[in-house]
Amino acid sequence: MLRRLFSNRRGFMQSALAVPGIGLGAQTATAQRKRRTANRDVLAELGVQPFLNAAGTYTRLTASQMPQSVLDAMQVAATQYVDLNELHEKAGDRIAELLECEAALVTAGCASALTLGTAACVAGSSVDRIRRLPDTVGMKNEVVLQKSHRNGYDHAIRNCGVRLVEVDSARDLESAINERTAMLFFLNHAERDGAIGHEEFVRVGKQRGVPTLNDAAADIPPADNLFRFTKMGYDLVAFSGGKGLRGPQSAGLLIGRRDLIEAARLNNSPHSDSVGRTNKVNKEEVVGMLVALEEFLARDHDKVWKEWEQSCKRIARTVANLPGVSTEMFTPEIANAAPHLRIRWDYGGAQLTAEQAAEELRQGEPAIEVRPRFSEGLEIAVWMLAAGDDRVVGRRVRSVLAAALRRAA
Ligand SMILES: *Cc1c(COP(=O)(O)O)cnc(C)c1O
Repeated sequence: MLRRLFSNRRGFMQSALAVPGIGLGAQTATAQRKRRTANRDVLAELGVQPFLNAAGTYTRLTASQMPQSVLDAMQVAATQYVDLNELHEKAGDRIAELLECEAALVTAGCASALTLGTAACVAGSSVDRIRRLPDTVGMKNEVVLQKSHRNGYDHAIRNCGVRLVEVDSARDLESAINERTAMLFFLNHAERDGAIGHEEFVRVGKQRGVPTLNDAAADIPPADNLFRFTKMGYDLVAFSGGKGLRGPQSAGLLIGRRDLIEAARLNNSPHSDSVGRTNKVNKEEVVGMLVALEEFLARDHDKVWKEWEQSCKRIARTVANLPGVSTEMFTPEIANAAPHLRIRWDYGGAQLTAEQAAEELRQGEPAIEVRPRFSEGLEIAVWMLAAGDDRVVGRRVRSVLAAALRRAA
């Protein structure tokens, strides 16, 4: 897919038509066409090993692939110059309309959305303050969150020079809020891990006049989550663009209150003297994000869900008749909430752990990456596989398990 991004097929077709037939045999033309349309495969040139993605939307594994329509729109945008601020504003307005919220900003991933949302709450739209971040002297510079909502991505919040204040209970939350409190942060997938749920969290924020930000990076599907949290009353909600939405991997969304989104924009690239200048998003990603979102919203989600289930079942059938092997479908309750397949085996003397099976899949041909979680068996994500690759994954898993069985015999 990516190969087409920089190809210029139309340009070639035009020049090919202009070539007079004299002296150009069919073979020569074909050979020439091959030469001129063959795009470089830089990954192959570098010897970087591609693999089938049965892992899911992991950034380290490059997460997701964009539909062709998104790549096409990015390619068109790539050949034109525009005013980036104008594009940000107009795309943001369109996204806000689609998501039925006040305002939206395309960011450089969800982590960037966390930085920009925090910067908006700390520095607002004041040019002087925007320039001073991450020096927050004299500004509201505390962000309150539940202890169980601490996670690696909160570094993106800390980049703004704020101090994270951890609380456990709703009473703690109330008493932690003071005149220095800039924002209340919620980690969507950790809702069950903390004592304070969405409604109470949002209510406290509103009562105390402190903006709330919900990080729902990997929590699409369900599609409804794109609307749910702003409607619930969160002032800001952040999503990854390159996970379930299948937009550009280096894009994300910050949506919510108009004044805060406007401030986030001012704290962002292309404004040079801002904390977000390191989070550059160019026109291709802005356009790609918008088109990916449109595609996603127009999708028949039930149909796609059934296809994912079919893929799981196909892989399950491929390995099911091996002795000692059992399979089950499961859907994570939150974060990457799509159907997955879990495969377990009991081979008695055979020394094959799920981790070793994963390593064999990684080393095989074609290489396959599975979910990097092995405590309950081998876990396969099907939702980022290209059409037909579920069969390849099924065959490869079967051959790895069958080989271990033979070794045990
Ligand atoms: C993936 C993720 C992020 C970062 O998202 P990017 O789009 O990769 O920047 C932030 N928070 C959570 C909870 C995530 O899962």
